[in-house]
Amino acid sequence: MNKSSMAQGDEGEERWHHGINPSFQEADFFIFGKLINNMQKKRVLSGIRATGRLHLGNYLGAVKGMLALQNDPDYETYYMVADLHSINTPYEPKELAKQTREVILDYLAAGIDPQKSTIFIQSQISEHVELSYLFSTVISVARTFHLPTYKEKVKLQPENVNMALLYYPILMAADILIYKANAVPVGDDQLPHLEIAREVTRKMNSKYGLDFPEPEQFKTKGHKIPSLLGEGKMSKSVEGSYINLTDDLKTIKEKLAKVPTDEGKGDKVPTRGGVATLLSLVDLFEGEKRKEEYEKAYLNSGIHYKDLKEKLAEVIHEELVPIQKKRSFFEKDMNKVDRILVEGAEKARKTAKTTLAEVRKAMGIA
Ligand code: ATP
Ligand code: MG
Repeated sequence: MNKSSMAQGDEGEERWHHGINPSFQEADFFIFGKLINNMQKKRVLSGIRATGRLHLGNYLGAVKGMLALQNDPDYETYYMVADLHSINTPYEPKELAKQTREVILDYLAAGIDPQKSTIFIQSQISEHVELSYLFSTVISVARTFHLPTYKEKVKLQPENVNMALLYYPILMAADILIYKANAVPVGDDQLPHLEIAREVTRKMNSKYGLDFPEPEQFKTKGHKIPSLLGEGKMSKSVEGSYINLTDDLKTIKEKLAKVPTDEGKGDKVPTRGGVATLLSLVDLFEGEKRKEEYEKAYLNSGIHYKDLKEKLAEVIHEELVPIQKKRSFFEKDMNKVDRILVEGAEKARKTAKTTLAEVRKAMGIA
């Protein structure tokens, strides 16, 4: 986007806010200018399943990227709670609405700002589901069967291999493309799904002459946070794998204390297992230099894990305190949270309807 036109737009906004009433023609011009700006902005979509409170993996791998793009004037950001994706694994219907609100509270607490981002609940925009059905016509069954994300779930929950699980990437493609999003702040675990969205883009564009952008991951430094258990990634649905954004210092200390370690020294710094998880968290919260010091210690005098864990717990907690304070503020005003969701849904629906109408027309659906 042209930065100088952006600045002019901002000045116009300033005048509105300061109550200097521009003439009708000037206002018209201003609104038109703003429209052009919005049309040229790149779009962003991201979402989190309503399967529990957010953890450090969600925060570092997704939310930090969401914040960076929200605060960049070149982007228009859409952030949802993916409640429809939450029901492809076993869940408690009575708890779903509450779980959805938990994610919204975590978003707001972490700094997702309704003034800057459109915040909404996925299922409230039913156009996502309709678009996903249209998209399902261009992706083969074999393609979805071979996704590592699907295969993992089949292995983990053989008793719950449902159609929605297979359909996950198609619905995710619709989540992204219904907003014509270019950038998707998600962790590495979502890359195979993103690849499906890119394929959908290419196929829909070439078959039906549409203009979907090929969405790309917006990668953060913490794009792949390992589990506290020392195997796999930190996940809401894997007990013992995570530290929540709402955890107090005592809880963080207890969780870190359980991370499996070794004797603290050896010929090669581990790249897997609990020690690797700890070093990765040190890198992210205390900096690369501190991590290198521990790595040197591992090869020489040895690491004293109790001290490492104590210090790490304190630094993590320090970063979480402001988020927790902000969360308690929103928890006391759920009416405000509901208002944010109503406004967010209205805005998201408008964009979603426009895209769906375009696709229906291009596919010959009256
Ligand atoms: P669940 O176990 O219910 O699937 P989850 O912890 O995997 O929960 P999701 O809601 O699936 O969380 O993912 C939300 C976002 O957080 C996605 O962008 C995902 O890529 C990111 N994310 C999840 N876990 C990690 C992780 N360990 N490291 C980095 N990013 C992550
Ligand atoms: Mg997940």
